[in-house]
Amino acid sequence: MLKKTQARTCIECGLPYDHPNFSYHAGRVQNGPAYWSERGLLCSHACSTAHFEKRVKAGDPMTEPASNPLEQDWS
Ligand SMILES: [Zn+2]
Repeated sequence: MLKKTQARTCIECGLPYDHPNFSYHAGRVQNGPAYWSERGLLCSHACSTAHFEKRVKAGDPMTEPASNPLEQDWS
């Protein structure tokens, strides 16, 4: 796997993962993020939508659910 220096921030707006405005699954940080793609984390439904639309315009739409990036081995 490629070595990434990917921080745990929203890939659309850069909001840190531990920010109070970050959307967690079922509203609990213990449950992990509510939104993400295989590119990284998304803080909210708005950023998820923006990311999806950007991908469609770029001709690279998300076609399959991505696995939770926090459960992947980034090392
Ligand atoms: Zn965001």
